[in-house]
This record gives sequence, C-alpha cells and structure tokens, in this order.
Amino acid sequence: MADLAVLTMPPKADTRVCETCRSWRRREHARCWNCQTAEDQLGFVTRVLPVSLYVKPSELREWVTFYKTPGNGARSYAELLKNTLRDFLEAYGSAIREDFGSLDFATPIPATKSSGNAVSQLFGPSSQLLAPLRNTLEFSTGASPKPGTYDPTWLDVTTNVRDSRVAVVDDVYTSGVHAQSASAALRNHGAEVPFILVIARRINPDFTVEAGALWEEQSALRYDLSTLPYWR
Ligand SMILES: [Zn+2]
Repeated sequence: MADLAVLTMPPKADTRVCETCRSWRRREHARCWNCQTAEDQLGFVTRVLPVSLYVKPSELREWVTFYKTPGNGARSYAELLKNTLRDFLEAYGSAIREDFGSLDFATPIPATKSSGNAVSQLFGPSSQLLAPLRNTLEFSTGASPKPGTYDPTWLDVTTNVRDSRVAVVDDVYTSGVHAQSASAALRNHGAEVPFILVIARRINPDFTVEAGALWEEQSALRYDLSTLPYWR
C-alpha cells in the first residue's frame, strides 16, 4: 500500500476551486491564474487530474523533487510514488475511463538532461491501469520554456498522433507551462487530449487568506481512495 498520509485530496468543485486543475481560484474567475493564463495564451486549456495537492515544503514535495536525483532516498521515493500512482489508478482508473473516455496511449513530458526518463519510470508500472505509455514529444532544439509562457513550439511531436486520444502525464504541476504546452502541441498535430494526469499539483496557501483556508480544509481530510473520485 502507498503511504496515503502524505497525500492531500484535491477539493471537489466549488466557488474557490479552479475548474481546470483543482487549485485555488479567485471567486470572480472560473480558473486559477495559471490556468487562465494558459487559456489566454493557447486559446484553450486542458483539464488536469492531480492525484494530490502539495505545498512547499512538505514530505510529498521531497518525494517528487528528489526521486530522480541519484543518491539519498531517490530509489525509495520513486517506489513510494509508483505505489501511490498504482493505488490511485486501481481505485479510480475505471472512473477516469467512464468520465473522460478511453485512451489510445499516455505520453510523458519529455526527458531533460537532469530528469532522464524519470516520469516514464513512475507511470510505467501502472500503465495497464491507465493506457500504454508512448514517447511522442521532444523538446525542440534550443527550446527554453520560460515561466508563465505557454508555447507549443517548444515541443516537437515525433510520431503520428492524429486522431489518437492521448493523456499527458507528469510528476508535478506548478504553472503547467510544460504540460499545457505539450497538450497544445499534441492537439496541433491532430490528437485529442482529454486530460493531463499528474501526481502532485502545487497550491500556495500563502497567496491569500482564502487559499490558505482551502489548503487547511483539504489537508485536514484523510486521503481516502474508497470514496467517489473528487471530480464527481
Ligand atoms: Zn487551475
């Protein structure tokens, strides 16, 4: 079993919750600032399914930051994350298929020099519970994604994805620059991207009093995979 005590269930929909990524939003907006910026720049934004919210610092943040760094604890953090994903998908994989449709494959955010194929290693063991993994993306030569700027031209789509239903998968989601740009690149090549699945979506409780209150509420709940999924 995964150690669910370090996870924080994303909130159900309400007036404080971003309809796209389940982080905090201002009441007068439909989305958080990140997701609204992605939509403004790309013309659309792809739904994000986080396994958990996280804050900085926290134990989950340690796992998702250091699992790919050789040395102290990396191997066990990777095992903990693989177990977390497996348990989440065993509990909710069929609900994901019912609610978002079946997938042809899932594609990881491409490797960088520092991360290797870390994301594939996390999602690989659970791929039968979601969809086969297929590498379809590479960062373009000379590409350097900038914080807050969403741009599909950073990514080359290296295989034919036309008319495929593809989920983008990644370890963490902060601004979503990588994942939303990847989704846009796939869509520009004719794929349908029903959602982005990530292990951990960051929330900043210090941003406003309301964001802090939402985090307090969610982190006080027991992470329980026997309940209905949070998006229902
Ligand atoms: Zn959002």
